[in-house]
Amino acid sequence: MTNNGEAHGGPVMCPGCGTGDTVPVAEVRRGKDQIRLALAPNTTGDGCANFVEGTVIAGLVACGGAYYADDRGWPWLLPAGIVAALLVMVGTVAVIRSEGKDKRRVRAGADRAAGAAAGARFCSECDGVFFPSGGPWAGVATPERFRHHAWTAGGYGDQLDEKAKAAAEEQV
Ligand SMILES: [Zn+2]
Repeated sequence: MTNNGEAHGGPVMCPGCGTGDTVPVAEVRRGKDQIRLALAPNTTGDGCANFVEGTVIAGLVACGGAYYADDRGWPWLLPAGIVAALLVMVGTVAVIRSEGKDKRRVRAGADRAAGAAAGARFCSECDGVFFPSGGPWAGVATPERFRHHAWTAGGYGDQLDEKAKAAAEEQV
């Protein structure tokens, strides 16, 4: 029985170090690497927590205004506190709206990012990503470069951190 490995799901050699001990990027399970190889920003946080936070802060601001207005005999502080509280609420809503927009963009582009990442494998020896097919680069690139590649394909490359943005200049 012959088995050349690759076609039958056997080991795929890393072009960097030659080890066959590589895994598809999608199967990387170690927390740190999983985050570095994520195809999209973490969108598990929901606007709800922001809203609660904003409401609490706004409430504190308003109460603070009311308290000092009474305590110090500064009646003008109460309306000022209410205005400040309203501004906090407006700010909170703006943050939630922009986050919602970012998330929608990520959802809309997720398939494109997955397509761009298809076939990518991770070599923990090199701490890098390569495409057996030759893909967008022939060698082994950093996880940051990979993230840049996937997120840009998905149309949300602007949500990358600075390190990943800079990785686009990497020579592979
Ligand atoms: Zn390697």
